[in-house]
Amino acid sequence: MSKKIVLTGDRPTGPLHVGHYVGSLKKRIELQHEYKQFVMLADVQALTDNADNPQKVRDNVLEVALDYLAVGIDPKLSSIFIQSLIPEIAELTVFFLNLVSVARLERNPTVKDEIKHREFGKSIPAGFLCYPVSQSADILFVNADYVPVGYDQLPMVEQAAEIARKFNRFYGEIFKDPKPLTPKSDMHARLPGIDGLGKMSKSLGNAIYLKDSSDDLRKKVMSMYTDPDHVRVEDPGKIEGNVVFTYLDVFGDNKAYVQELKDHYQRGGLGDVKVKKYLFEVLENFLEPIRKRRLEFAQDPDQVMKMLKEGTREARNVAHETIKKVRAAMRIDYF
Ligand code: ATP
Ligand code: MG
Repeated sequence: MSKKIVLTGDRPTGPLHVGHYVGSLKKRIELQHEYKQFVMLADVQALTDNADNPQKVRDNVLEVALDYLAVGIDPKLSSIFIQSLIPEIAELTVFFLNLVSVARLERNPTVKDEIKHREFGKSIPAGFLCYPVSQSADILFVNADYVPVGYDQLPMVEQAAEIARKFNRFYGEIFKDPKPLTPKSDMHARLPGIDGLGKMSKSLGNAIYLKDSSDDLRKKVMSMYTDPDHVRVEDPGKIEGNVVFTYLDVFGDNKAYVQELKDHYQRGGLGDVKVKKYLFEVLENFLEPIRKRRLEFAQDPDQVMKMLKEGTREARNVAHETIKKVRAAMRIDYF
């Protein structure tokens, strides 16, 4: 029996952060052993809100590829590819746009939220509004069974499943129903940013990056949002919405000690600085080996590009097969 197919990807809009790790990367490292996994550098999608800054997207393709290798996504087990080099995705997007209403696109809660944060004002790029359709093409061109994502991406997988069903109804059974795979808890699926305002995101300047130096990490942890009413050490503090404790829940292995800290903090008598110092240690232990591996891979960028070229070739072969079937189903296979 052939292996089930998994697709995921990231927008090369910045290096990857610890939210990516717990929300998606961790799962990918496990899944690559059991499934046929495709990992996409979504440069076309990154351009939907960075049209004026192509160099940023270009530079971050290498950055994100280095992050993949550093955390243990293995190019021998996963096909890592560049979206813009698969023109069949663009082709499928055009066909899929006919299967979705504008109202449906405007209802997408993640897109709504992102539009608010990006301050497009009245000039929302059409490509941005339509990116869930393009993302459906990403998922469907490999005919993915599973898509491991954080909560912000659930509406996208749902959109892809809707398009798959409609396509199949109109033209015949080509696509499977893709299913999301979400992390084990809400905190993992939507890690908040260090400002405590929303999800950690490359585009919001509230992220701890996998490649952050020890010093940067320390500064970020020390500036983290806690409980604004916890002014004096003696005061009882709140742990709900206090991102330092959220991170300890996600990254701290010593659950008993974390519980002790929580009890002490809520009773009063435990200062933010002490908790933050502990969190720094926890995160430093987690990030140090990743940082080290990343530096090793970064010494040979040509080798990384070669790896991407090979992964892209593998993805293109699949795209070619899919588009042949799609064209036949749509009666546009003229010659
Ligand atoms: P951008 O701000 O450019 O959109 P991003 O930080 O949201 O960047 P994406 O490339 O859009 O990152 O997301 C890649 C993957 O990581 C998706 O599967 C997404 O669900 C997951 N992810 C992103 N941010 C988080 C987060 N804070 N917590 C958990 N998972 C996340
Ligand atoms: Mg995003």
